[in-house]
Amino acid sequence: MSTGPYPTLMSPIKVGHTVLRNRVIMGGMHTRVEFAENAGERLAGFYGARARGGVGLIITGGYSPNAAGGYDADGPFLMTKDQAADLEQVTEVVHAAGAKICLQISHTGRSARHEGLVAPSEIRSPISRFTPRALSHDDIIQTIDDFANCARLARNAGFDGVEIIGSGGYLLSEFTTRRANIRDDIWGGSVENRHRLPVEIVRRIRAEQGAGFLITYRIGAADLVEDGQTGAEIDQLAAALTGAGVDLFTGYVGWHESRIPTVAYPVPRAAFTYAINRLKRGLSVPVAACNRINTPQVADDILSRGEADMVYMSRPFLADADFVAKARDGRADAINTCIACNQLCLDHIMTDREAGCLVNPAAARETQFDETPAARPRKIAVIGGGPAGLSCATTAAARGHDVTLFEAADHIGGQINLACHVPGKTEYNELLRYYRTRLDTTGVTLRTGRTADAETIAGQGFDAVVVASGSLPRQPSLPGLAGDARVVMYDDLLAGRVTAGPRVAIMGMGGIGFDVAKFLLIPGELATDPEAFQSYYGLDTSVQQAGGLLETPVPAQGPHHQVTMLQRKPGRPGASLGVSTGWIGRSTLQQYGVDMLTGVTYSHLDAAGLHIEQGEKTAVVALDTLVICTGQDPHPVAVQSGLPVHLIGGARSAAELDAARAIDEGYRLGLQL
Ligand code: NAP
Ligand code: SF4
Repeated sequence: MSTGPYPTLMSPIKVGHTVLRNRVIMGGMHTRVEFAENAGERLAGFYGARARGGVGLIITGGYSPNAAGGYDADGPFLMTKDQAADLEQVTEVVHAAGAKICLQISHTGRSARHEGLVAPSEIRSPISRFTPRALSHDDIIQTIDDFANCARLARNAGFDGVEIIGSGGYLLSEFTTRRANIRDDIWGGSVENRHRLPVEIVRRIRAEQGAGFLITYRIGAADLVEDGQTGAEIDQLAAALTGAGVDLFTGYVGWHESRIPTVAYPVPRAAFTYAINRLKRGLSVPVAACNRINTPQVADDILSRGEADMVYMSRPFLADADFVAKARDGRADAINTCIACNQLCLDHIMTDREAGCLVNPAAARETQFDETPAARPRKIAVIGGGPAGLSCATTAAARGHDVTLFEAADHIGGQINLACHVPGKTEYNELLRYYRTRLDTTGVTLRTGRTADAETIAGQGFDAVVVASGSLPRQPSLPGLAGDARVVMYDDLLAGRVTAGPRVAIMGMGGIGFDVAKFLLIPGELATDPEAFQSYYGLDTSVQQAGGLLETPVPAQGPHHQVTMLQRKPGRPGASLGVSTGWIGRSTLQQYGVDMLTGVTYSHLDAAGLHIEQGEKTAVVALDTLVICTGQDPHPVAVQSGLPVHLIGGARSAAELDAARAIDEGYRLGLQL
């Protein structure tokens, strides 16, 4: 047992014949870096940094063992010696840093995004455009060969083992359920038949690779879909897989087609540990907990309570390569915490872009940025302590510049402070904590309560000025709006400077319009209290029912406000929201009775309410409060000091500005200065 901070998390563990230096697994993630021209080099940079950062076991992003199983038509695949050779530099750099690494074998089955997809039966996934071809018996035998070949190639490339994906609605989990498997041959029907393919794959790999090769299996601990597995079936599968040679079960909950959020910010931390703990109780091999575990304290608590043997975290390692080293060395307050926004990771993957990270612009781009000290340290003024200014100031200071950060408010964070009030977005507090620590450790001089202008800057010996003074809410010009006490701006409402009456109209359905609706309607504990979340979504925490779902979800609590949301654009409400998170907010708000009107023309506001036209119809939206969420305009402070001036973030351009762009612009400028 380790004697430092987080002793359980940091203690070594024997898995199969392999000893891991601690109980932290960096979980597999799609990054699409595998498609880059210099993929091997970039992946070595990415995984090498996490290995040097202290993680015990790394699982790569998924590689398909054959053409049908790729998430996309072009892979990523591990089918040939050439493909394996490119990965040798990855395993070398990881081993040199003392970590172990498994290659993830991922056959996506009917969840694949290409026309050549296959499945146990010809049943289309509700979230897919394509109907899969049902595998023949011979195809299944070939698939087992393909998994074995992939494991062989991985071993030759230096991997310590493989992780086989048996969850999420990918091929192997499809075989286990009647939802996707209605075969009547030896691969379907009885529970044993439905389990046959995953068990045969594990048996074959173990037979070929011997005892020293790590086999981890990503098992669905609760499918969260109708006709998913029952707990008893999951236990039977796990026992059969253990007998076939699995060394470690890494948990997972939900299928991608489930209508229950499992990883995004509306999910409380560790909300699904119940399913992992239930599974672990009947098993002789270690089990890793997963889903919304993003701090060392949450991870250590799970292990200390005996709910799991290891912890599987993926996105937290995009956010901070040094997560483990910082936790181990008592510097947990310096961890750049994953806020579960999905904005640059999952949302990018789902829209064919490389993954990145909102809070860490260098994630998966380790070889592209040069963070070495500045050749000529200079004295720099940064105006504005929002995300752009914080990112720039701390990056520049870390490179040796003498940085002073001016912030007009008495605290840092800018609009991040507003986000913290939105249900589910309390994780943004971690970003503020991270920057407070980083300002300290990089030696930035912080001047709060100071509106910096040309006069403040003059005569202080600055060599350059960075203007990161942000944006201001846009006030539309509409007859009746000006001077009406019912009209409030979103920032005043979110900051608690004003309150809303019972009937609320929200003008603007961008990210902030939705945030305001959530603020008004959704109880905060839904995203922070696992029991409230489990009850709202009707989760069967005993996992006795198929899919781990109760037949009748507990109804939502009544709303305190009657809310109408409006926008001028026609089409789907909230179309600009993140693809992996927008649906959660939309469906929850609809459940709370929100009326969403699109294709609206605003006419005027009077005592009766907001007059609108929608197509041929005219209507009046009666209201007590009209919240303006119609975007922002840049708010650059004027600094005519004769010094070089750099504009970043909302001060440069407010269109589609979010925290991701602000932090990225700040980081890039911080490296250039
Ligand atoms: P936004 O996304 O640009 O939305 C502004 C809304 O106001 C739109 O619905 C727009 O729709 C309407 N609008 C714009 N100008 C108007 C005018 N003159 N009169 C009436 N309506 C007008 O801006 P935002 O909601 O302020 O968000 C700012 C940024 O933060 C965006 O990039 C957003 O993606 C990001 N953000 C993201 C999240 C998230 O959860 N991912 C949350 C908050 C903010 P019409 O023009 O069709 O009426
Ligand atoms: Fe976490 Fe958001 Fe970064 Fe993804 S983009 S790793 S969810 S902070």
